[in-house]
Amino acid sequence: NADAAMYHAKSSGRNNYKFYTADLNARAREILAIESQLRHAVDRREFVLHYQPQVEMCSGNIIGAEALIRWNHPTLGLLGPVHFIDVAEERGHIVQIGNWVIREACRQIAEWHAKGLPLMTVGVNLSALQFRHQDLVGLLRDALAEYRLPGSCLDVEVTESVIMDDMESTVQTIHAIQAMGIRMSIDDFGTGYSSLAYLKRFKADKLKIDRSFVRDIPGDQDDSAITRAIINMSKNLNMQVVAEGVETVEQWQFLAQEGCHQVQGYLLSRPLSAEAVEPLLRQRCLLPQLE
Ligand code: C2E
Ligand code: MG
Ligand code: MG
Ligand code: MG
Repeated sequence: NADAAMYHAKSSGRNNYKFYTADLNARAREILAIESQLRHAVDRREFVLHYQPQVEMCSGNIIGAEALIRWNHPTLGLLGPVHFIDVAEERGHIVQIGNWVIREACRQIAEWHAKGLPLMTVGVNLSALQFRHQDLVGLLRDALAEYRLPGSCLDVEVTESVIMDDMESTVQTIHAIQAMGIRMSIDDFGTGYSSLAYLKRFKADKLKIDRSFVRDIPGDQDDSAITRAIINMSKNLNMQVVAEGVETVEQWQFLAQEGCHQVQGYLLSRPLSAEAVEPLLRQRCLLPQLE
């Protein structure tokens, strides 16, 4: 019996080992495929933007949407940014991809407007590399001009680490961006290793409370306290505040009670293709089913 058990352990151990290397090989192949195909993906029109509505809590009005990139990969299917954004940053493809994101977001806003929808504000995520790219301001200006849009149609989202990287030049870029009427949001707020002092150096329009704080409210006392503090601080500094990743009615109720301005999350809508989000934008209002 003991022998049989030992034999079983050994053989299943070996099988596990085989599975493990097979997994690793598959993963390595996937990374290779991603690296080699990423540089052609813009030219081959394989990227798409999905849009997640942002809702004003007091009215339920959809006040904008965040554009989130997806890669329609020829063999691997629809890939989310976790599969390729880091590689794109490392290889420097992110600047070209990011430029496409800005222009595509503008094209889509103009298309919706032409179809009779009110002008939307779309949030675009900018990477550190793109933010330091000299042409960013010109690029934003050209994209808005090409589609005849006011700056208020765009809201650029950057993380704290992007801002802290090179304070001097970043603050100048942010001022130039805001001078065009474009909004500035600080994404994943509270997760970067940064002092709050940078909030005095320029005026962000919006803080986005990171999903990691929202996840365990209202049950977790610490997360509730942090979320409440971010909401109060935003208000006192005259910034809008958005909670990311709202999934439950309980989270919604806590945030409403604390006076959070806006929310974004699966409770209201997942990120959707432009086609799928259009009916929501038409309906203009999105509220959760409260018990
Ligand atoms: P982010 O900017 O913080 O975007 C929010 C992420 O949370 C998105 O993931 C969104 O799908 C997800 N999310 C929204 N609501 C919920 C919810 O209720 N529950 C949960 N569990 N998740 C929710 P996604 O689309 O996978 O994007 C991940 C990150 O990739 C983004 O984080 C952003 O940092 C980056 N990213 C996305 N699009 C772009 C882009 O065009 N350019 C750059 N440079 N980065 C991008
Ligand atoms: Mg974002
Ligand atoms: Mg975020
Ligand atoms: Mg993030």
